Amino acid sequence: MVKIGVLGLQGAVREHVQAVQGSGAEAIVIKKVEQLKDIDGLILPGGESTTMRRLIDKYDFMDSLKEFAHSGKPVFGTCAGLILLAKNIVGYEEAHIGVMDVKVERNSFGRQKESFEETLDIAGVANDFPAVFIRAPHIVEAGENVEILAKHEDRIVVARQGNILGCSFHPELTDDYRFTAYFVNMVKEAK
Ligand code: GLN
Repeated sequence: MVKIGVLGLQGAVREHVQAVQGSGAEAIVIKKVEQLKDIDGLILPGGESTTMRRLIDKYDFMDSLKEFAHSGKPVFGTCAGLILLAKNIVGYEEAHIGVMDVKVERNSFGRQKESFEETLDIAGVANDFPAVFIRAPHIVEAGENVEILAKHEDRIVVARQGNILGCSFHPELTDDYRFTAYFVNMVKEAK
């Protein structure tokens, strides 16, 4: 059984753990840097990217997270997790982990749409997938080695670059685990 870590510093951690278990993999909440060596893939949950960044620095995670992503082990960033992975963030001079060749804009769905649910067709993943957006970012630009897997109203909301997967929404907040299962499969293939 593959082991999938969920970065457990802040955000929707427990829900990802449930989704990973529901997809037939072992889930480990990552609270210490040393735990990264025990896992085959990593999920960076949604929450608040600025808070998560502060905690990543506080607990000295940054170098090890970059190393993990560069090692080829799959990483899945959801919502704030996608912001952590992006090489560029609109309005910010520096990236966080910065390993995915995309530019993201934070909180980009406007006030009246702060939270909404939309059914998406995600290429190679699932059709009619219930996507819960909560103060979500979207991908403004994607490099040529990035595959665009879904859009919502012309905005890119799911993309993959090799073993790095990112989405704007919270796939773990419903009991439809097809997207998590897709990631679990990426982890199995990489192993
Ligand atoms: N708005 C948050 C941020 O910028 C992301 C929201 C989320 O993860 N649900 O980090």
